[in-house]
Amino acid sequence: MTWAATVLTLYPEMFPGPLGLSLAGRAMAQEIWSLDTVQIRDFATDRHRSVDDTPAGGGAGMVMRADILAAAVDCVLERRPGAPILAMTPRGRPLDQALVRDLAAGSGVSILCGRFEGIDERLFEGRPILPVSIGDYVLSGGEVAALTLLDACVRLLPGVMGAASSGDDESFEQGLLEYPHYTRPLIWEGRRIPEVLRSGDHAKIAAWRASRAAEDTRLRRPDLIARHGDARRPPPSGARHEEESD
Ligand code: SAM
Repeated sequence: MTWAATVLTLYPEMFPGPLGLSLAGRAMAQEIWSLDTVQIRDFATDRHRSVDDTPAGGGAGMVMRADILAAAVDCVLERRPGAPILAMTPRGRPLDQALVRDLAAGSGVSILCGRFEGIDERLFEGRPILPVSIGDYVLSGGEVAALTLLDACVRLLPGVMGAASSGDDESFEQGLLEYPHYTRPLIWEGRRIPEVLRSGDHAKIAAWRASRAAEDTRLRRPDLIARHGDARRPPPSGARHEEESD
C-alpha cells in the first residue's frame, strides 16, 4: 500500500521540491509513497480568495482564518478519514524520531502549513489536529517544516533504505546520538582512522561505537541523557546504509 501524504498549503508549487529527488524521489517514482497538495485558497469564499484577516486584539501581521482552514481540513478528512492531520507551528509538540516512526508506520499523513502570524487557535479546538514544531526557531511558513517531516518519514518506509538497514542504529533511535563515522583515506591531514575500526573485531568495534555514542551525547546533547536516562545503547548491527548514499 502506498503511504500517502497530503499537504494543505498556499504554495503547492513548493512540493515535492527536494522530495522529488534522491532517496525520496526514487521512492515516489516506485509508488512507495505519494504526495498531493490542496490549495487552501480554493476554500476562500470571497472574490479576492482571502484566507487571512487582521489579528483580534491588534498587532502586526495577519492570521489564517479558522473557517477557511476548517473547510480545507474537512475536505481532506472526508477524502482520507484514516490519516492523522498535523499542523506545522512553533507552538506545537516538538517533532522527534518517535513521532516520525509512528507516522511512518501508519497509512500516511495530512499536513497543514501555516503562513503569516499563524492559525486562528479555534481551529485546533474544532478539528482533530496535532500541532507540531520542528524546532525552537521561527520559519516564514510551514512548507519547509512539512518537507522536513515528510523527508524523515519517507526514509523509514519499507523498501526506501533497502533491506540492509532499518535506520535502527541512527541518532535518536535509542535516545542517543549516533557514533562517529570514518572512511578512506586512512590518514587525512595527519588524522588517522581509530585503530579499533580497522581491527576486524566486531565485538570491540560495537563496544567502541556504543561508548562514543554515549560520550558524544553526554558532551553535545545532555538534554537527551536527561530525557532518556544514561542507558547505553545496544551494540549496533553494523548494517550499512548503502542505498542511502547518492
Ligand atoms: N507568530 C508565530 C509564532 O511566533 O509562533 C510564527 C508564525 S511563522 C512566521 C508562520 C508559519 O511558519 C507558522 O504558522 C508555521 O506554519 C510555520 N513555522 C514557523 N516556524 C515553525 C517551526 N519551528 N515549526 C513548525 N512550523 C513552523
